[in-house]
Amino acid sequence: MSSYDVIVIGSGPGGYVCAIRCAQLGLKTACVEGRETLGGTCLNVGCIPSKALLHASHQLHEAEHNFAKMGLKGKTPSVDWKQMLAYKQETIDTNTKGIEFLFKKNKVDWIKGWASIPGAGKVQVGDEVHEAKHIVIASGSQVSTIPGVTVDEKTVVTSTGALELPKVPKTMAVIGAGVIGLELGSVYARLGAEVTVLEYLDGITPGMDLELARAFQKTLTKQGLKFVLGAAVQKVAPGKSNATVTWRAKGSDKDETLKTDVVLVATGRKPFTDGLGLEALGVEMTERGQIRTGAEWQTNVKGIHAIGDAIEGPMLAHKAEDEGMAVAEVLAGKHGHVNYGVIPAVVYTHPELSSVGETEEQLKAAGRDYKVGKFSFMGNGRAKANFAGDGFVKILADKESDRILGAHIIGPMAGDLIHEICVAMEFGASAQDLAMTCHAHPTYSEAVREAALACGDGAIHA
Ligand code: FAD
Repeated sequence: MSSYDVIVIGSGPGGYVCAIRCAQLGLKTACVEGRETLGGTCLNVGCIPSKALLHASHQLHEAEHNFAKMGLKGKTPSVDWKQMLAYKQETIDTNTKGIEFLFKKNKVDWIKGWASIPGAGKVQVGDEVHEAKHIVIASGSQVSTIPGVTVDEKTVVTSTGALELPKVPKTMAVIGAGVIGLELGSVYARLGAEVTVLEYLDGITPGMDLELARAFQKTLTKQGLKFVLGAAVQKVAPGKSNATVTWRAKGSDKDETLKTDVVLVATGRKPFTDGLGLEALGVEMTERGQIRTGAEWQTNVKGIHAIGDAIEGPMLAHKAEDEGMAVAEVLAGKHGHVNYGVIPAVVYTHPELSSVGETEEQLKAAGRDYKVGKFSFMGNGRAKANFAGDGFVKILADKESDRILGAHIIGPMAGDLIHEICVAMEFGASAQDLAMTCHAHPTYSEAVREAALACGDGAIHA
């Protein structure tokens, strides 16, 4: 039996970041992980592998559509799927090994196996019981499916199966037009699959600023994805070499069917807390199965904190990381803080989408007086040179004070561009503050400045 100041359960972006920061702050720390490798969902079957496939398939798209325009002639590359999967795996491996290295460097003990909490201050892994002054649960999330759907990870797959299909399917149905479904759907569309997205709601990417979501749907449609909105999926049945989706248009009593090589079920994720023994401990949960936390991510059981996908809030790696760092600060007797009003969200398709703060719909619903500054990438020299003129930057600012309330971007490098607005928002900046900041030319960032200018006297290149 070993004794620690902190034992973190789970080594995803919440858990590993928390463990490293705890150790850096002088706490004796261990991190328990049930998987073979560190890094959680994010590094093993989430953010990192999906971005590797998005990157590779985007390169193919560039070669097919834009190389010749720039005078780059020659045979368009063909897809060696096995090699693409090997590249994806290598990307995973270098990242998970990187966490292993950081654990060693920071003297975090990696306890291998599945943990349970037999009592406050105790963590059991296999036959061993370890003691800890503080326990941080960072057990993450798992795929959540809908009734009537049988997943076999062959013809009916979750995102995990979709990251390692044996071959590129000719046809694919994606159930759910959220971020994960659309990112993976666009990977396979670029690789040549005919992709149909079935979504119960009347629009895609629910919760996103509506103007952005509509522009996104148009762009994806242009790229060849088909959308069936208002489709209530009744059943998905796996077959030997294909699968059948039965769905019904909202308000109709007639079943429709779609036979397809692969069905990707991307209907969301739910917290994963199985096997931890939380019920016996009396840890309070929300109605949605999340661990309920109060101030400083403390559960109702003294000495047990929880962070990341296992608790409330957006299921995002960087939200989990921020909570991990903040809890570590708290456990070290310092002050930990996460500003939930400034957590960016990104969709890594091409073009990318990003968003932070309030949407226009939220501001309207709150009856807030606001102004909109918008700028199209068509007016940005760099974007035009790079065939990336599709899209816009939209900044929402308070009508009176000019304080930035939110920003929504669809266009090149949107996932990176959003951060200057995040920093501005953290400092309580006005749109004018952004507009008065010199931006290098020619950069995509100039479009952000122009949108800020458009909140005031007007953009220059519009
Ligand atoms: P996780 O990463 O889920 O890690 C939890 C870990 O805890 C797991 O490794 C699990 O094995 C371990 N564990 C659980 N219970 C125990 C136990 N009892 N004992 C020992 N170990 C245990 N987010 C983004 O921000 N950007 C993206 O681009 C993005 N892309 C995604 C793409 C896909 C396909 C998916 C599925 C998700 C994506 N996400 C993305 C979401 C992101 O992966 C999660 O928000 C993030 O991983 C949550 O981190 P976490 O630390 O809370 O949990």
